[in-house]
Amino acid sequence: MNQSYDVIIVGSGPAGLGAAFHIIENSSKSVLLLEKSKISSGGLRNDCKQNYTYPVGFTTELWNEEEAERMLAMVARHLNPDIVQQRNLDVYIKRAENLGVKLLNIKQSHVGTDRAKGLIADLIQKLLEKGVTVALETEVDDINYDAKKIYLKDESEIRFGDIVLAPGRAGYNWLQNQMDKMNIQYSDNVVDVGVRIEAREQNYPIVKDYYDPKFIFPGRVRTFCTNSGSAHIVKEKYEKYYSVNGHAYSTDMASNSLVNFAMLKTITLTDPVVSGHQFAEILGQMAMQLSGGQPMMQRIGDFRLGKRSKRETFNDDLYDFQPTLKNATPGDLSLAIPSKILRDIWRAMKLLDTIIPGILHPSTIIYYPEIKTYAIRPEFISSYFMVKKNLYMIGDGAGTSRGITGAWASGIRAAEGILLNS
Ligand SMILES: Cc1cc2nc3c(=O)[nH]c(=O)nc-3n(C[C@H](O)[C@H](O)[C@H](O)COP(=O)(O)OP(=O)(O)OC[C@H]3O[C@@H](n4cnc5c(N)ncnc54)[C@H](O)[C@@H]3O)c2cc1C
Repeated sequence: MNQSYDVIIVGSGPAGLGAAFHIIENSSKSVLLLEKSKISSGGLRNDCKQNYTYPVGFTTELWNEEEAERMLAMVARHLNPDIVQQRNLDVYIKRAENLGVKLLNIKQSHVGTDRAKGLIADLIQKLLEKGVTVALETEVDDINYDAKKIYLKDESEIRFGDIVLAPGRAGYNWLQNQMDKMNIQYSDNVVDVGVRIEAREQNYPIVKDYYDPKFIFPGRVRTFCTNSGSAHIVKEKYEKYYSVNGHAYSTDMASNSLVNFAMLKTITLTDPVVSGHQFAEILGQMAMQLSGGQPMMQRIGDFRLGKRSKRETFNDDLYDFQPTLKNATPGDLSLAIPSKILRDIWRAMKLLDTIIPGILHPSTIIYYPEIKTYAIRPEFISSYFMVKKNLYMIGDGAGTSRGITGAWASGIRAAEGILLNS
């Protein structure tokens, strides 16, 4: 690494990659991309479903369709998506519309967890060939905005002309710290709370026609991140709780005939709890306390009867598949989920079962909690996600995106701002 670069990018997720490619391909600027992990994290590495239709993955307050579509074409040139063919969409859309539910028609591709590492390695290799300096396992500790310097964990310092911060959702605390130090105003009052459903594929056969169907229900509930083929549920560790999530391997792997997807309700908080992270911690901790420090799970059959699931519920009788998240604790969701959230999600599930009959089979499992604390969104001073002169904040961490393609597009937009202002 040199002692100074025209542009320093913190974080090599899709947002950081989008910025790095755009700057190096459109200028002679020196670029340093810093990543604290061995490999970039998040959705590029896990599952890697890419959505190529606005508004999926975009924050609608910051993007319009025309601008997003222009960027998505540029994203596709780097990620070369293999768009999955959809079938019978008009039938599903009509059924949904009859119930006041919207089914979005999204162009998608799916890489799969097993192939994603190769994709990331290719992208990094291309950046190196184009002249970007990439430093993996290199964590940025602090920024001195006035002196235009960053400090690494090993206490070395590097100067920048422009700096782009793209630390992702997990970089929440770090980003908040930086904003506080630089007196940047921000908000964090939106959070998605919900459950993850795991079912036999035959009880949710729409996935054969539409890989990741995006249903939007009344009550701000939606389906999110559907996985099938070789599909698994995992838990993600946060400071005070675990959230569940799902992913699938590519078609190279044998199918386990299961499907999983999230049902999320968006909550906008107002005084006195105005932090989505704070609310998530309250709910997450409550779930952990009720289920011995692990996510909770309940079979639909038990839920409908109003009784908790027990270890015996997960047998080979009617309940004919085993949970893929082995250490989730059988329990009673209605003790853990606030009634407003549970009511709206359950209503949405009944609508979904009318559109795709079968998903409410007694064997279907509901896992809780799945929580998406999207962002700590700064006040931007330009449409290029500039927060202060020469300082840009992008990606899921800064609330400019909600997915791989939107994050990459945010990187391009910040890069355009840098090129315009230089
Ligand atoms: C399990 C999982 C599965 C997902 N699946 C999908 C999917 O299939 N499709 C989809 O569209 N989205 C998916 N997502 C969401 C997706 O990951 C995000 O929308 C996207 O990665 C956001 O990009 P980003 O660049 O903003 O942040 P990230 O991808 O999170 O990248 C941020 C990077 O910054 C690094 N970093 C943070 N702080 C520092 C620091 N101080 N110094 C140096 N480096 C730092 C982090 O290590 C990280 O690599 C998934 C997320 C998870 C967790």
